[in-house]
Amino acid sequence: MAALTEPLPGTADLWEPEVLEWTGVEEAARAVFSLYGYGEVRTPVFERTDVFVRAIGDETDVVQKEMYTFQDRGGRSLTLRPEGTAGVIRAIAHRGLSPGEQVRVYYLGPMFRGERPAAGRRRQFHQVGVESVGSCLPQDDAEAIAMLVHYLEVIGIRGGRVLLNSRGLPEDRGPVGAALRRHFQPHLDALCADCRRRFETNVWRMLDCKEPACREIAERAPAMVDLLGTESRAFFAAVLGALDDLGVAYEIAPRLVRGLDYYVHTVFEVVHSGLGAQDALAGGGRYRISLPGGKTPVDGVGFAAGVERLLMARESLGVRQPPQPGADAYIVALGNEAVGAALILARDLRRATPGFRVLADYSARSMKAQMRTANRIGVPFTLILGETELAEGKVTCRDMRGAEQHTVSRDAVVAWLRQRR
Ligand code: AMP
Repeated sequence: MAALTEPLPGTADLWEPEVLEWTGVEEAARAVFSLYGYGEVRTPVFERTDVFVRAIGDETDVVQKEMYTFQDRGGRSLTLRPEGTAGVIRAIAHRGLSPGEQVRVYYLGPMFRGERPAAGRRRQFHQVGVESVGSCLPQDDAEAIAMLVHYLEVIGIRGGRVLLNSRGLPEDRGPVGAALRRHFQPHLDALCADCRRRFETNVWRMLDCKEPACREIAERAPAMVDLLGTESRAFFAAVLGALDDLGVAYEIAPRLVRGLDYYVHTVFEVVHSGLGAQDALAGGGRYRISLPGGKTPVDGVGFAAGVERLLMARESLGVRQPPQPGADAYIVALGNEAVGAALILARDLRRATPGFRVLADYSARSMKAQMRTANRIGVPFTLILGETELAEGKVTCRDMRGAEQHTVSRDAVVAWLRQRR
């Protein structure tokens, strides 16, 4: 049995300096998305199960196999969110969306799927995602894709490939479904049990089955775009035109469907060779989601990127945040009286120099032991309070990088630090 101190399979504890890598990509997401008019939304991590089943579709792997669903004490069926869109759409519907109104939001946070853990596949993973809701134009799709590419550039990820396809409108489903069934029909015996069921219930899902035998047959299926009606084809052409205008490179992936049922028109993924088998950095598309209570469905476009995978891609490219010491200054206090003075000096410095991280040593150990700790932390400055300093109202300030040292009055410490920072 695994030790009780171990995190569950597919989950992880995170520590600095790794946490700093995370906050770096999260802060970059905030900075880039806000340039495009997106504001942050935070929705609950768990919702009524129905919120996900209705939006994602009950014939999807996420709903059928991967959701963490449980009954609460009142017998209600609840689910830990497996993705962000369904909850955001619920929240927007709850707040109300006037006709013609557009809402642009981004979110950051944990998602939960009961998948078999592997490199790049976790049970608790984290996404940064966006939704542009109430937007119906092909330019909105192109801009969302361009923003994702912009974001990847800002966090130093080169070499991502944008794959693009169209699923068309609901009215295209009949003819496309019929053509796909005609393609798969002669091969049914060679397909996995899931695909034989999907043949009846949701033939599109056969295009992204992971079984090698099914994949081989799926790869020969007709390209979806060729089967779409005039309106859907025109919409897709307009998305491609806008991407060309923006100078965003893409590849058409004629059989890309993405796992969730709510997509219409554009679907896309960004894949990266630094990731191994789970090579999708981000995925998204245009959707049409029905709201509870039979209101008019909501149109929108969005995407989500997996934070773990963004970090793996960065690592494969050798991109790292510069290492930071755990503090900027370390106060060495010699003798019991100095310990009290160190406590106050630390407080005053933190308030006088915002962003300057100060640690003080209250152990009253020898100078050598305290300096050893300061070296281990890697602080650029140590501030020494000994008996003489205390008596004279002074502090000995040492720049650890050049070993330069001055004894200055207590009031002059902030100026001394600012000059050398
Ligand atoms: P999806 O909606 O499944 O396409 O997920 C969007 C993005 O989230 C993917 O491109 C991945 O980067 C990330 N992702 C999805 N599932 C997992 C998982 N189980 N573990 C880690 N990252 C994931």
